[in-house]
Amino acid sequence: MNTTSANQVEFTINRNANPLPEAKRDVILQNPGFGKYFTDHMASIDWTREQGWHDARIVPYGPLQLDPAASVLHYAQEIFEGLKAYRHADGSVWTFRPEANAQRFQLSARRLALPELPVDLFIESLKQLISIDKAWVPSAPETSAYIRPFMIANESFLGVRAAERAAYHVIVSPAGSYFAKGMQPISIWLSSDFSRAGKGGTGEAKCGGNYAASLLPQQEAYANGCSQVLFLDAEEHTYLEELGGMNIFLVRKDGTLITPKPSGSILKGITRASLIQLAKDMGLKVEERRVALQEWRDGINSGEITEVFACGTAAVIAPISALKHKDFIVGDENAPAGEVTVALRNKLTGIQYGLEEDTHGWLTRL
Ligand code: PMP
Repeated sequence: MNTTSANQVEFTINRNANPLPEAKRDVILQNPGFGKYFTDHMASIDWTREQGWHDARIVPYGPLQLDPAASVLHYAQEIFEGLKAYRHADGSVWTFRPEANAQRFQLSARRLALPELPVDLFIESLKQLISIDKAWVPSAPETSAYIRPFMIANESFLGVRAAERAAYHVIVSPAGSYFAKGMQPISIWLSSDFSRAGKGGTGEAKCGGNYAASLLPQQEAYANGCSQVLFLDAEEHTYLEELGGMNIFLVRKDGTLITPKPSGSILKGITRASLIQLAKDMGLKVEERRVALQEWRDGINSGEITEVFACGTAAVIAPISALKHKDFIVGDENAPAGEVTVALRNKLTGIQYGLEEDTHGWLTRL
């Protein structure tokens, strides 16, 4: 056991005495899928109201001990993040805009009445964990290691109030190429009965409860042959919000990108923000505003809207060929990915994998 310093907080390192043998790890890395396998270690930091953040540590990956009265189990006081580690051709490992994830984690913490983890401690926890589990970051094209930081309220108390104790953890899962057979357009399902988030709700926070609420509409999407569900605004059921786990863009025939403006009920995706910047770099216009579903329907019919895509850390960009609803379908399920969609995807993945110049300084070495 040794210690290593992260600002004022010391990370204790307790190496796994029984890491997965290399040969078994290599078999997993050949075909990791998504979210199924986990590396040998995890990072943890505790928080109490009296002590603040303390006991930062890297420990063997394993079950958490939770009191049955822990508030997270009853009132869902929980938040999480998702980002990736990418292996470059020279073997080095990098992550993408981790300070943006750290800031969003703080925003989520505020909304869920959880303590805010300092940005540098968030980033240090990733560095500590990835440095010990670096061999788990795959190297085949478009593979990565998915990093999942999360925080739970773990005070044993059944009163409904913000917990006085919380725990932050980071786990890592090797991830295969999202589109192993090349970029495949997806069909998405328009939920008519359910909303994801309302005004003043938790839509802008990355909290588990938002995802619990999206599972039933997501099942409806699967049952209708769609891989994601699209939510409209909760009040008028008229304007596009986002998918269960991705933001959405429409592309006009002049190349202009149109995307819903975040107004408190949608997650401000880091992929979304990055694509807006890259589109502007490419000389394209971007409109962030309210986008009516009718604009999409009319635009597809008139030819004014030529491409639609979803974006997020997991898939980067997924072209959307069709929107299905119980009464209608917009687009053509067999339509291929559009030109702007492909160009933006290549540009962003190029930066992430070190094939394109990182002109915005978005990469951090782990
Ligand atoms: N919206 C939702 C609801 C999400 O879960 C995600 C994935 N984090 C996104 C959008 C995309 O965010 P990002 O680009 O930061 O992954």
